[in-house]
Amino acid sequence: MQRPNSHAIFTRAKEIMPGGVNSPARAFGAVGGEPVVMDRASGAYLFDVDGNQYIDYIGSWGPMILGHQHPAVVVAVRAAVEKAFSFGAPSPGENELCELIIELVPSIEMVRLVSSGTEATMSAIRLARGYTGRDRIIKFAGNYHGHVDSLLVAAGSSAATLGVPNSPGVTAGTTQDTIICRYNDPANLEEIFAEHGSTIAGVIFEPIVGNMGTVIPTAEFLQTMRELTWKHGALMICDEVMTGFRVAVGGAQQLLDFTPDLTTLGKIVGGGMPIGAYGGRKEVMQHVLPAGKVFQAGTLSGNPLATAAGIATLKQLRDQPPYEKLEQLGAQLGDGLLAAAQAAKIPASLTRVGSMLTLFFNPMQPTDWDTASQSDTTRFARYFWGLLNRGVYMPCSQYEALFISAAHSPADIQATIAAAQEVLAGFG
Ligand code: PLP
Repeated sequence: MQRPNSHAIFTRAKEIMPGGVNSPARAFGAVGGEPVVMDRASGAYLFDVDGNQYIDYIGSWGPMILGHQHPAVVVAVRAAVEKAFSFGAPSPGENELCELIIELVPSIEMVRLVSSGTEATMSAIRLARGYTGRDRIIKFAGNYHGHVDSLLVAAGSSAATLGVPNSPGVTAGTTQDTIICRYNDPANLEEIFAEHGSTIAGVIFEPIVGNMGTVIPTAEFLQTMRELTWKHGALMICDEVMTGFRVAVGGAQQLLDFTPDLTTLGKIVGGGMPIGAYGGRKEVMQHVLPAGKVFQAGTLSGNPLATAAGIATLKQLRDQPPYEKLEQLGAQLGDGLLAAAQAAKIPASLTRVGSMLTLFFNPMQPTDWDTASQSDTTRFARYFWGLLNRGVYMPCSQYEALFISAAHSPADIQATIAAAQEVLAGFG
């Protein structure tokens, strides 16, 4: 597959943007090579600036659950553009999107819109601290919550794959109140609460992890977290930026049946436009300014174009739920990829929740960062390039989940499996 235009554009990009990108995972650093520069997208496909077509399993890192350019979303955004780009004043779309979030996400009674997932998690931990009057936050090794300074400790995803879990520029003072715990380890959580319980404002976690590849929590782990946070007066902060509206219309909390105090949202909630949100019990949310005293603000928060895309997406997910189809496609892809690895005698495991999945080049299914990080990333890089050059656009890191959209067809999945069989068989 030839990409001369991509090469030329990226070469120039490197001179004017750090690493040639505006977010590090896009640079393909973990798999060593040049990214593809995209021109347009439609349904399950991306088209690069050289006219090559790819089946897309990144979906803009999660938001595009309906596929690209879904007609309902395009119509809604076009109508919004005709009215205004930004008000900086209350608008009905904000009510409508917040109503939908409250209706769909079981634990949310009141919600605040922001402009990214990072803003959502940053604001939620500030609220947890303001509400409890405590400083410490527990986070889990390998979980990623955006580039919030105090949470850039043992973060997964690009932070882990680029080998800088503690970024330069994040001061020791900023992270001193962040306690790291092993994921899926209730005993470790109990130890931490036993020692620091009265100083802990909250526990932030990915309810199904996407940022060390797909990792699934045990019921015992979630239950222990709920009980310990209740017992010690700390808040359970469920980061559903990736899982919200993805694994079920009500997110992981609906699928796995637990009730957090605060939930953070991003990605799908904006339908491909920049939105994040945090919400939870009214009694807690009332502490946010101007109802309460915890400061948080945003010039473009509740932007009318973004709310229009979010409303159209959530309505579609509510009124014509694609989750059964996504489950079928997910099973087809997951089973096919694992079988392809097994047929080629390559040690691998597969973790999947609906349309979110990871083929790990690791014989054991990871349960935490220690086990996930034993995956064979060199093999992953070969697999990635083999697929890309056959027109399959997978996440460019072993430690990212791939996403299927409602626009994918069984034929797309079959073509992907056939490509994977060819690539893996060539590993020898
Ligand atoms: N939380 C989780 C679980 C994420 O996966 C991400 C991004 O990938 C974020 C937070 C940060 O979201 P954003 O990139 O919109 O700031």
